[in-house]
Amino acid sequence: MNKPVSLTLLGESNKGVRIHDLIKAPANTPWAKERQQSWDADEPATVYYTPETTADGTPCSAVTVILRTKGCHWWWSSGCTFCGYFNDTRDDVTNENLHSQWQYAKQKFNDFADHQMVKVYTSGSLLEDREIPVKFQETVLADCQRLGKELIVESRCEQMTEEKLAWATKINQNFAVAIGLEAYDDEVLRFHVNKGFTTKSWERAVVNMQKFDVRIKTYLMFKPPFMSEADALNHSVKWIEAIAEKSDEISVNPMNIQRGTIIDRLHRNNEYRPPWLWSLVEMIKRAHPSIHPEGGFNGDADQISRLIVHPTAGGKVRGAHNCGECDSHVVAGIERYAVSGDLREFDGLECQCQAIWATEISLEETLPTPLGISKSRRGNVLANLRSL
Ligand code: SF4
Ligand SMILES: [Zn+2]
Repeated sequence: MNKPVSLTLLGESNKGVRIHDLIKAPANTPWAKERQQSWDADEPATVYYTPETTADGTPCSAVTVILRTKGCHWWWSSGCTFCGYFNDTRDDVTNENLHSQWQYAKQKFNDFADHQMVKVYTSGSLLEDREIPVKFQETVLADCQRLGKELIVESRCEQMTEEKLAWATKINQNFAVAIGLEAYDDEVLRFHVNKGFTTKSWERAVVNMQKFDVRIKTYLMFKPPFMSEADALNHSVKWIEAIAEKSDEISVNPMNIQRGTIIDRLHRNNEYRPPWLWSLVEMIKRAHPSIHPEGGFNGDADQISRLIVHPTAGGKVRGAHNCGECDSHVVAGIERYAVSGDLREFDGLECQCQAIWATEISLEETLPTPLGISKSRRGNVLANLRSL
């Protein structure tokens, strides 16, 4: 007699597969493993420079060094729903490798001679000992202090302990920490982002950073998964208002789809549309009074914080986009606002697709559609309908 076959869901009396393993599957697939091993561990993932402004608002040039690391400890055990940083990591990177990568970046830019600011990103937290050897943390802090460069690093909240900050500020007295808070809402953090920390832990980190005079840069995520466009717009305006007083800089990242993530699956399945650029313009207009209560511009005395929106992959289908016709003009306006803080940057921007966007927002605000009604594809409406 044949052995009875049990239902797949119940398994063959083997240990059940955890949902975590199913969701994390992309990081463990042969293509992902092969790709990870293909990186040269002695060279950073990428090094480039961009225009920036220093802490006091002076325009400057900044080198960004994205290091090839072991990645983020939160990703090892769970991970945020949109984070594709695992694509850039190698789990066998050593202290020596990291030093070689740093050396490579310094050599390429002549000890950052022509640049006032250096951003060091690690696909995780630079000051987390499980991810980055302490010796290397020290090298980055000490080198930037010695070279007189304004340093920006990224971190989760839990690393911002008094002990760690006391240690770091002894070595370097001119750095900012960027924290990916993503949402100032515990429900969104838990169910949409899977962030693994709460708003309280961010508050704690802020208190500690203020105590040690470390500048605070906060990232917010515009339109995390399982959220409608209208909700994303309304929430983000409130979040900006709530954190403005406690952040020297707020950087809103409109969702862009990274390979192998949960949001990637939703997007491929036509269940998620990256944000409209019009929503970002509207968010900036509504949030502007929280940043400049007197209606001023960047650099004016009424400035509470600095609001930056940089649509990564803006205008592309996997990034924030409009109809395809107007995208480049709207992206340029949004980027100009980040520098000037002047709402007049949006004067004269208009397109036929604005009416479609406005209708979607108003429908989402009135209909019970928590996941939204945004079309997940753009292009000719009739052609899209025919291909269904
Ligand atoms: S904390 Fe940051 S690096 Fe870690 S999984 Fe989340 S987004 Fe990625
Ligand atoms: Zn348009």
